[in-house]
Amino acid sequence: MSFERSNADQEKVGDLWGTMFENSIRKRLLVDGAVSIAAFFILIGVGFWSLSNAEESTSLVLQTDRVLVQTGSLIAIAPSIVGANHANEISHAILRDAANKAAAIELSVDQDLPEKVEAKRIASAARRATHLFDRPLPPDRAPSKRVVALDAQRAVILARLVSFIEPFATNEKRLRAAREESNVSAWRRTNALILAIFVSIAFIIVRLHFLFGRLVVTRLKMLGTKARSFETSRVIAEPDLGFDEIARLDRSFYDMMRDIAERESELRRLNILQDRTRDFILFIDRSDLRVIDANASARVAYGYERDEMCRLHLHDLRAPRTVVDMSKRLADIDRGGATFETIHQRKDGTQFPVEVSAFTTELGGRSIVMSIIRDISDRERAAVAIMRAEESDTARQNLEIEAAERKMIERHLAFAATHDDLTQLPNRAYFTNRLQQMVARQKQHPNERGAVFFLDVDRFKVINDSLGHAVGDRLLVEIANRLRTCLRAGDTLARFGGDEFTFLLERIDSESAVVAFAERVLASFSSIFVVEGCKVLTSASLGIDISEGGSTTAENIMRNADLAMYDSKARGGRCYRTFTPALLERAIVLQETESDIRDALARDEFRLFYQPIFTLDDRKLSGFEALIRWQHPYRGLLTPDKFIDIAEATGTIVPIGEWVLAQACRQLETWRADLSKATPLTVSVNVSPHQLSMPDFVDTVKSALDRANVPADRLNIEITESAIIGVVDDVSQKLDEVRSLGAKIHLDDFGTGYSSLSHLHRLPIDVLKIDRSFVSDTRTGLASKEIVKTIIALAQQLSIDVTAEGIETAEQLRELIALRCAHGQGYFFAKPLAGPLCADFIRDQSRFEMKSAV
Ligand code: C2E
Ligand code: MG
Ligand code: MG
Repeated sequence: MSFERSNADQEKVGDLWGTMFENSIRKRLLVDGAVSIAAFFILIGVGFWSLSNAEESTSLVLQTDRVLVQTGSLIAIAPSIVGANHANEISHAILRDAANKAAAIELSVDQDLPEKVEAKRIASAARRATHLFDRPLPPDRAPSKRVVALDAQRAVILARLVSFIEPFATNEKRLRAAREESNVSAWRRTNALILAIFVSIAFIIVRLHFLFGRLVVTRLKMLGTKARSFETSRVIAEPDLGFDEIARLDRSFYDMMRDIAERESELRRLNILQDRTRDFILFIDRSDLRVIDANASARVAYGYERDEMCRLHLHDLRAPRTVVDMSKRLADIDRGGATFETIHQRKDGTQFPVEVSAFTTELGGRSIVMSIIRDISDRERAAVAIMRAEESDTARQNLEIEAAERKMIERHLAFAATHDDLTQLPNRAYFTNRLQQMVARQKQHPNERGAVFFLDVDRFKVINDSLGHAVGDRLLVEIANRLRTCLRAGDTLARFGGDEFTFLLERIDSESAVVAFAERVLASFSSIFVVEGCKVLTSASLGIDISEGGSTTAENIMRNADLAMYDSKARGGRCYRTFTPALLERAIVLQETESDIRDALARDEFRLFYQPIFTLDDRKLSGFEALIRWQHPYRGLLTPDKFIDIAEATGTIVPIGEWVLAQACRQLETWRADLSKATPLTVSVNVSPHQLSMPDFVDTVKSALDRANVPADRLNIEITESAIIGVVDDVSQKLDEVRSLGAKIHLDDFGTGYSSLSHLHRLPIDVLKIDRSFVSDTRTGLASKEIVKTIIALAQQLSIDVTAEGIETAEQLRELIALRCAHGQGYFFAKPLAGPLCADFIRDQSRFEMKSAV
């Protein structure tokens, strides 16, 4: 029952806010796609860069090769250059050739290469030597003095040219080797990058395929299966509790299936009623006055088949000559129902007198006129007979009985359509209708104020589950009876669904009247309910929304009252809260955090920290308490107070808790493997009330131990008192089973609950953990020494061990030792440590003991 409510609630919030936020499947696919494409483009960019580098380095090698070829041929003609003679034409040709080769060397070397300067020098020497040969002498002429001087100058230049070339060639060879090497590695890098690009394309395709399959295809298939099983056997599978598009679709689908199932059963009930009555029942669409359906008696009486009947207009059934003001009659019908006599005609045109009782109601979201019609030919004949027989007694009695019987059936049908079977209170449809009327009226009279109260019975699910549904049903009837006594004239009380009741207070004068009413309602739960021999004490959570001005809708008023009711529940129930816009904002934040938590599990964002626990008298490390943290992608490292309550309220604590158990056991096993197995360290795991209430809790513990291969006596389960309240027997049995595995039970935050003592002797508890508010609220000694002393004495009486939490100072430690407290943890010893640091901590503990000695 509570599941239905929470689902409906999620759906409301989902509908409202889902449109304002990104849908998560789209977001996830977009983010994944964008990251993949960005990575792909980066790879392509780097690939291009590397490719152009490789090509550049190849062209450099080729260039060096060309230079080497030119240089080689220049070196080959070097001896002839040196021997060149001014008087010789051949020498002149050789020098031109040498000058061309030197110019080619210079041209082959790019401007920005290091050897450019050398190449230039070679080319300029060659040019100058050639220049000196510009006008050669005929071979028979004796060389003049000037020519001899020129020859000498040329010889010097040529000698220098030859001396440049050799080192240049050597250097060029060295450069070539270096350039070749870098060219090979550039191509290697490029090939590797091209391979990486292909691999990443394949990876992106496979990843998007799997993501899409997991997020969309599999779940759509599941939806198809649910649809088929509903269609074939009317089985309604539980909805997906997520918040993305498919989860919302699933929940809408779930609601639709429930709606269909409810309507079908409602229809079955109505059909039975209709078939058992001799009256003709017609369902007429209020908007166009066409017949929607008719019962079997009506079809027989009017002479139509069902499908013919459903095509008729109301006028087709009335005798042509009946004169009536239809709009006035319909207004009467809408206002609360009307009864009148008229003449109808059959398909064959014959006419007969009828008495019609009609009223308007909502069916399947449509406004329907429901008409109950009786053929009064007999009655009229009887009336004539009575008149003729001067009022025969028997005829009158028959008439009266018939009229009474008819009224009863009319009332029954009208009641069934607008009331709840179990409590006989008005139902949701009736209530919504009244509320809509009130909002419409407020539009006309903006000063008129009204209030809606949304009531939810506290812990009804527990009562229902533990005492059985028969008791649950009787309890709801008793609650309805008590709530009826709170009503003032003109108020409406309805059973909204499950254990939810709603009140509509129209025309309220002041807020104090609302408060007084709320207190009256809460007070009606103060005495014990006795149902089917069981005594049940329960309470209620109330949410109130006050409306005026008609500026909102009935739907919004209901949502606001519902949110306010949830606020009361969050404050522990048995109270009332009035709606404020802050509640709506908080609902949005909760909604966001909840879906974040679900994603966090999938993205592996939870971490465990471990706080060391010590034996106080010898200050020996005895174990660690595992404390969860959330490495949030934007908000950083979050402590449990930022998310555990939400996880608890939304049920996500169950998979989180399973992860914590498994992770803590795995971590313990790692320490055992890394360090000495003989060091008998324990790990304490906090277990939430919701987790503890799961039927498979013991199996979860067992499988975490088995999988990590950890002996059960190394595991402590920490529970809080809130996990026990109201369900001691159930919890006690589970804890016994956990203990029989070998694990120990620690009662956490002891002293902060309100029924501690009564639980102690009924539960299998091994250790009491004294809450840190009694230990470390002050900076010196114990914050509440007397309380600590009493708890330790109590534990000794019951042979239970004690661990003090929150030891922050040496003074507190000294006092706890003096009070003979066995174990302790707190910032004085160490703050919670990230998993990897613990192994060092365990190794260093002897050093730590010395340091922390008091
Ligand atoms: P707890 O089980 O009572 O854990 C002890 C808390 O007291 C831890 O806070 C710890 O950091 C803090 N503490 C320890 N020594 C000192 C001290 O000397 N001074 C002060 N001021 N604080 C100290 P933390 O880690 O923020 O956890 C808070 C609560 O959240 C825990 O209280 C526990 O109830 C809950 N929690 C933590 N991890 C889990 C988990 O995995 N599952 C569940 N269900 N609840 C958890
Ligand atoms: Mg704890
Ligand atoms: Mg604690």
